[in-house]
Amino acid sequence: MRSSRCCVLYNHPHCVICLLRIFAWLIPLCLLQASVLLTPAHPGALARLRLNKLKAYPGDVLRADLKASSAIERLDIFLAGHRIMFRSTVGLERWSGLVGIDLETKPGEHTLKGTVTLAGGQTVGVEQDFRILPKTFPVQRIRVDEKFVTLDREAERRVAEETKKLQATWKSSSPERLWRGRFILPVASDMTTGFGRRRIVNNQARSPHAGVDLKAGSGTPIRASNGGRVVLAEDLFFSGKTVAVDHGLGLYTYYAHCSRMLVQPGEIVKRGQAIAEVGATGRATGPHLHWACRLNEARVNPLELTKAWMSEEPGAVERRGDSSGRISESFLPLTGDP
Ligand SMILES: [Zn+2]
Repeated sequence: MRSSRCCVLYNHPHCVICLLRIFAWLIPLCLLQASVLLTPAHPGALARLRLNKLKAYPGDVLRADLKASSAIERLDIFLAGHRIMFRSTVGLERWSGLVGIDLETKPGEHTLKGTVTLAGGQTVGVEQDFRILPKTFPVQRIRVDEKFVTLDREAERRVAEETKKLQATWKSSSPERLWRGRFILPVASDMTTGFGRRRIVNNQARSPHAGVDLKAGSGTPIRASNGGRVVLAEDLFFSGKTVAVDHGLGLYTYYAHCSRMLVQPGEIVKRGQAIAEVGATGRATGPHLHWACRLNEARVNPLELTKAWMSEEPGAVERRGDSSGRISESFLPLTGDP
């Protein structure tokens, strides 16, 4: 019907209803145009986040590499609510970080994601999906003194206090990388108990084995697996005499059941330096070193740190010209944890 059609087409340019109709069409077009201008056509062209492996098991360590088209001012990348700490590897455009997959992570699809703030203030969203494969850990039955299984009130209070202190420790890592290359085994030994075993202690289910047990005689020197700062040297209820070293960027190693501790909190240690001696203090069935690792608060297998790829330096090609071997790095502010 002629009356229902736009009268501009029929030479009625001053019709108010038609002008309103035209504006009604223009408004969504303008909004669409604005959103195109505010959102980059290809966010991946501005910043890309990649993992070195897209399939992993609980307890694994992955490397995340971030590449941006211009200098990065700030990174806010998280896995399961935990911040992943990065270091710059080439200029301020390329960054790298280690990602820990907790021992009790559920199998299935997971996403590492967050935002990258570029110099100039532009913020770009980045993410990388990956898959956690199911893994069945063997069951281990052990017998220990009943006081380590049925805790009295004083022991319960002590354990709660120690747990709180350790959890706070895992959140306060140095923003600088204090380690270099592969980690070493703290004692030369055959492993006696593997990572992740489900434990039945005196016939009661207990938390899984979040480290590896290295068999060694009492008094054997325990060596720092890599450079770092001692953040704990204390006699704990379950772990006995325990040393923890912060290697920076959210990565810690933990040495338990020692007979003697040779370092103090705050001390800087080098890879291979004797920091304690093997013992059987705390909940232990005999002399051995319980060696564990925390990374972005996740309980990961410390043997992952001894793998060859840990010594690979992302962006090493670009740095070949540096004969001094020294790498200048800069680090991001670490504020605003969720
Ligand atoms: Zn152990």
